[in-house]
Amino acid sequence: MIGLAILGATGSVGVSTLDVVARNPGRFAVRALTGCRNWRVLLEQCRRFSPSVAVLADDDAAAELAAAVAAEGLAVEVRSGAAALEDAARREDVDAVMAAIVGAAGLLPTLAAARAGKRVLLANKEAVVMAGRLLNEALAASGGTLVPIDSEHNALFQCLPDGRNDPDGAGVVSLLLTASGGPFLDTPLEALAGVTPDAACRHPNWEMGRKISVDSATMMNKGLEIIEACWLFGVGPERVRVVIHPESIVHSLVEYRDGSVLAQLGNPDMRTPIAHALGWPERMLSGATPLDLVALGQLSFRPAEPERFPCLGLAIAAAQAGGGAPVVLNAANEAAVAAFLAGTIGFTSISSVIDSVLAQYAGPDPADLEAILALDAESRLSAEEKIRDLAL
Ligand code: NAD
Ligand code: MG
Repeated sequence: MIGLAILGATGSVGVSTLDVVARNPGRFAVRALTGCRNWRVLLEQCRRFSPSVAVLADDDAAAELAAAVAAEGLAVEVRSGAAALEDAARREDVDAVMAAIVGAAGLLPTLAAARAGKRVLLANKEAVVMAGRLLNEALAASGGTLVPIDSEHNALFQCLPDGRNDPDGAGVVSLLLTASGGPFLDTPLEALAGVTPDAACRHPNWEMGRKISVDSATMMNKGLEIIEACWLFGVGPERVRVVIHPESIVHSLVEYRDGSVLAQLGNPDMRTPIAHALGWPERMLSGATPLDLVALGQLSFRPAEPERFPCLGLAIAAAQAGGGAPVVLNAANEAAVAAFLAGTIGFTSISSVIDSVLAQYAGPDPADLEAILALDAESRLSAEEKIRDLAL
């Protein structure tokens, strides 16, 4: 039995992970489940999966959960707060950690899993964008492994040979990330300023949490994924390319020196990369519908228009600048997306906020975790200032 901790169990990736676990009885023992405030969903998961510990980031929500768990006589320890999240990630009886908290909040528990030598199943791309070097160093020092959950990176992982972080030795020319283009791919440019949060979260192919849905609509998601790919596969940003593929069937491709291009295909269902990473190197059932190419008929590809997706350009610039720029980019984006979702700023102001915060940034590069967290906090403060200027 593989001992499993699921960080962000109550979210979109977390729920899909438990769905895959339930389809493969006898393979996994769920030891730890975590959430933020949604204690009712976590309670239901405790009933079904009997973890040893359930953690909520929020103290009040944890008190509600603890009362409900006691009333039902469930043998689950309930904890709350940041230290409890990290403890869940490094438990001795845990072999693999699904890192599926959204945003910078996932960094410390993900790093704790890497430092403890776990198999890290990585969905929380913001943690890699902020601290890719520290994560890689922690995995190398502890003997831990990382299997990507993000569908594009999971596809690249499947299309690369073993020794995935030696692209030159493997004859890799470039990594090609596909992007759906999100819900506004064909919206007239002049209408973008007035789109609503609900429209931005109505993704054509994927059902995801609200933050990543907005990131997909701005294509900041693809920008973060370029930086993620650089850290995961040891390439510079000039070797990661992006192509729009509205059907979301080809999840990404690797181009080799001899002209071969390897791709991974499948219906857009996160349970496929999740099952791949949970079972790797074996294949497991995921519940995903088999791909029917004849029913699909056609697959299409096109370039990303820079004026439609300014966030993609900002992310590429931050990837090229390196150092602290990706930390600043990520923090400003999280603040701007939260403000857009709250109805404080318009959709097109998201890129304006990030642009202005990035423009103010002038090193020094963060040397360690404390410096990264300080730069993250500082960038959020300057983003909040800009958000006040742009408030509707
Ligand atoms: P979600 O919003 O549905 O779920 C987020 C989870 O994180 C929830 O369990 C929530 O309780 C928890 N959380 C939120 N804030 C927290 C905090 N401050 N402290 C502790 N826990 C907190 O998000 P999601 O769509 O499942 O995405 C999770 C991560 O996976 C993101 O980094 C996202 O980019 C990545 N990802 C998601 C998908 C997808 O299909 N949903 C695909 C690829 C990558
Ligand atoms: Mg992705």
